[in-house]
Amino acid sequence: MPVLLHRTSQDVMEELRACIGCNECLLVCPALVKPIKIEVLNVETFSGPISAPIARFARACYQCGACVAPCPVGLHRDAMMMWLKVRLLRSGRKE
Ligand code: SF4
Ligand code: SF4
Repeated sequence: MPVLLHRTSQDVMEELRACIGCNECLLVCPALVKPIKIEVLNVETFSGPISAPIARFARACYQCGACVAPCPVGLHRDAMMMWLKVRLLRSGRKE
């Protein structure tokens, strides 16, 4: 099982499944310029192609951690974003 920082792929998948889609994490994010759908972010964080808006957001995320405290179910969006960043890097996508 691949491990990224302190989170395994299983950890990230479990957090994505536990997400209730309330959007609180994105509301406080200083790096999000244009709104994105949390459902799309969750899907693309873990599998399949990464769309242009999600790729832009993944690059913009600077791991400040501000998205963690507002989550009503104790999830770690910053760790999910790190997972997405690595997926994006591995994809070789340039834009
Ligand atoms: S860690 Fe990334 S997603 Fe979370 S608030 Fe900071 S910039 Fe936004
Ligand atoms: S704040 Fe938590 S539950 Fe709400 S959308 Fe973000 S990760 Fe999901």
